[in-house]
Amino acid sequence: MTTPTIELKPSAHPLSDAEREAVLATPGFGRHFTDNMVTIKWTEGRGWHDAQLAPYAPLSMDPANMTLHYAQTIFEGLKAYRQPDGTVATFRPDRNARRFQASARRLAMPEVPTDLFIAACDALVAQDRAWVPAHGGEESLYLRPFMFATEVGLGVRPANEYLFMVIASPAGAYFPGGVKPVSIWLSEDRVRAVPGGMGDAKTGGNYAASLLAQKEAAAQGCDQVAYLDAVEHRWVEELGGMNLYFVYGNRIVTPELTGSLLAGITRDSLLTVARDLGYEAEEGRVSIDQWKRDTENGTLTEVFACGTAAVITPVGTVKSRGGEWTQGDGGPGDVTMTLRRALLDIQRGIAEDKHAWMHRL
Ligand code: PMP
Repeated sequence: MTTPTIELKPSAHPLSDAEREAVLATPGFGRHFTDNMVTIKWTEGRGWHDAQLAPYAPLSMDPANMTLHYAQTIFEGLKAYRQPDGTVATFRPDRNARRFQASARRLAMPEVPTDLFIAACDALVAQDRAWVPAHGGEESLYLRPFMFATEVGLGVRPANEYLFMVIASPAGAYFPGGVKPVSIWLSEDRVRAVPGGMGDAKTGGNYAASLLAQKEAAAQGCDQVAYLDAVEHRWVEELGGMNLYFVYGNRIVTPELTGSLLAGITRDSLLTVARDLGYEAEEGRVSIDQWKRDTENGTLTEVFACGTAAVITPVGTVKSRGGEWTQGDGGPGDVTMTLRRALLDIQRGIAEDKHAWMHRL
């Protein structure tokens, strides 16, 4: 089966420059979408076909669409950054393509070839280039590739038709008023994912599973939930939408990929960035008792969360049934801020891109 080329049929009525600039002045996150979108169909026996870039528009759906009932749906998230010379580049889109393929395999869906995934992202960013915020701050254009079953019917089995899409949304600086630590609620009863489950796939069901714990966290006055492993309820896994790093002076440790947490691309990049900066960076196991004890004895100097949306977020206070503690002095730590700056500088084209992570359009 051949890879289709993307037919360009962009909107004849994009927002005016003034309207777009008004949106870009206060974009928020995931609230506004660009003028166009990419759609590519997949049908059993035919493969990928009907690839097009067309005006952003609602979809019409049969009530018996299989996704609405059985949740065969996966997504990705990556950012396009304006570079100092005015061009645009996305960060490690090949990694998102590979993770999207892994998610597809886990949900018995067809895999989008890496070149088609990147071509779809490129086509949308190229067409809606004016939506990529100007160079200077931490603003970006967030890309949301996703795929879902489009077959109509109520039998439980892998669907024989899917739609792969890419939409884009301008994203403001995550911390417009300066980097602020998040507070964490430690979920000791509810788990996000189980061994053999789909915690390492980026699929809607994992987020649905996290919402009640997120509500409970909010009721405790916390911003985010930290999940423990589902068997021993002891090993720290990740937050609902970010990975975690523990800073022991010059050594940083992130929970190893057990299969029930998402292999974050920011997490992976930071292992490399940290080593480039002379830190020891490793994957390992951190128990909840160790988190609390090492904070109290002062060896665990900082904790931060990382992901595409916020890049790096310091962790401030942690609340659990067993007590509450605060990392360091409660403010952003030096290692956290050094790594944050180093990664953002690569993404914004200020620092040397030693590992060829930026994909220029
Ligand atoms: N864990 C979960 C559950 C997430 O949703 C995300 C966001 N994609 C991450 C970790 C961080 O992954 P990435 O660095 O690739 O954005």
